[in-house]
Amino acid sequence: MKPMPARRELPSDQNATGRCLGAEELAELEGAIDSGTLTPTKGQAVRSFEGRFAEQLGVAHAFACTSGTAAVHLALMALDLEPGDEVVTTSVTDMGALAPILFQGAIPVFADVDPETLLVTPASVEARLSERTRVIIATHLFGCPCDMEGLRRIAGAHGIALIEDAAQAYLARWGDRLVGGLGDLGCFSLQQGKHITTGEGGVVTTDDAELARRVRLSVNKAWPYGEANPDHEFLALNYRMSELVGAVAGAQLSKLADVVAARVESAESLTRKLGELPGLRLPRAPEGGVHSYWKYPVFVDPSRVQGGAVALGARLQEQGIACAPRYIQKPAFRCRVFQERRTFGTSQWPFTLARPEALDWSDAAFPGTWRGLERVLVLPWNERYAAEDVDFIAEAVREAASSLEVAA
Ligand SMILES: *Cc1c(COP(=O)(O)O)cnc(C)c1O
Repeated sequence: MKPMPARRELPSDQNATGRCLGAEELAELEGAIDSGTLTPTKGQAVRSFEGRFAEQLGVAHAFACTSGTAAVHLALMALDLEPGDEVVTTSVTDMGALAPILFQGAIPVFADVDPETLLVTPASVEARLSERTRVIIATHLFGCPCDMEGLRRIAGAHGIALIEDAAQAYLARWGDRLVGGLGDLGCFSLQQGKHITTGEGGVVTTDDAELARRVRLSVNKAWPYGEANPDHEFLALNYRMSELVGAVAGAQLSKLADVVAARVESAESLTRKLGELPGLRLPRAPEGGVHSYWKYPVFVDPSRVQGGAVALGARLQEQGIACAPRYIQKPAFRCRVFQERRTFGTSQWPFTLARPEALDWSDAAFPGTWRGLERVLVLPWNERYAAEDVDFIAEAVREAASSLEVAA
């Protein structure tokens, strides 16, 4: 057996090695501090970031907020749901995309995912629709776009709103549009590990003027700044981004195109270097789509690779590659908040409003989810990977896969 390549320290998105933060952010920050105005209701940094974000995405409106979680909450608040309304979402996502549904008194209904991508599909979403469905959330996981043509068709046919969770998919494309700009509302996160970051932060986008006004109010305790006879029009929180954060966000936005180009180039280079390996399915964009590689997910067939994703992941971890077999360990509905319905006191509200079938979280209802999570091995990725880093990963994966190969 050939010796494994020497351990290598890869750039990490958790610190300066894997992030593009520097003089540009400092200069913008200094401008914000010099202005003495740190609230976005009076300052320029957040407003300017919002305008440029909307323009880059090709939509009419963008609103900055405090997190991706806030962005999802704002999108739902804009839709003015009734308690007990159903929101069809994915079994494989960040809790920040689910908690807002419950806070808004709605019922998250989990669609199964394609085991080869961990994305919801038009068929898996359609199977979970009911007469109470008001919203579909399409989550572009790992930077890979969902089938937006199919999802838009379903949403349109049933008069259901479509929210895109693009937190992991900056500048990914479906056809000639950037994701986040294809649904009624788009949500983004600026958390530490996303394509661009302010540590914490988020953005909501829409093309619709009425929804835009609802989002703008929802960010601001439902107070319509700048309008005649303002009043607190409905129940809403303060989700405003500070000018300090907006300044950094503006500088990060200027780097986004280069960041995504670097990620795509290095990820495609890894795909070419790995070629065809028995039992490994490498990430690729769907026909007509562009993948923006938040991560590099590999799907491992345990009948061809001894021990599957867990064993392959353990080998790579020995080499210093901080990969994640199973990604989220378990589907969201297996977390305590769902299993024990720990919401508001002991009320279990809003689960108490749900149709029993909407809460069918049995294994049998989620074959794609269980199979996909069992097989996925998520390789960390970022824009600072050099050619030598990609060579190192390629060699480590090849060696590990060949040492675990099950003869066909
Ligand atoms: C990160 C993330 C969120 C939540 O964003 P935060 O900024 O962490 O609140 C929501 N959805 C997805 C798909 C994410 O990856």
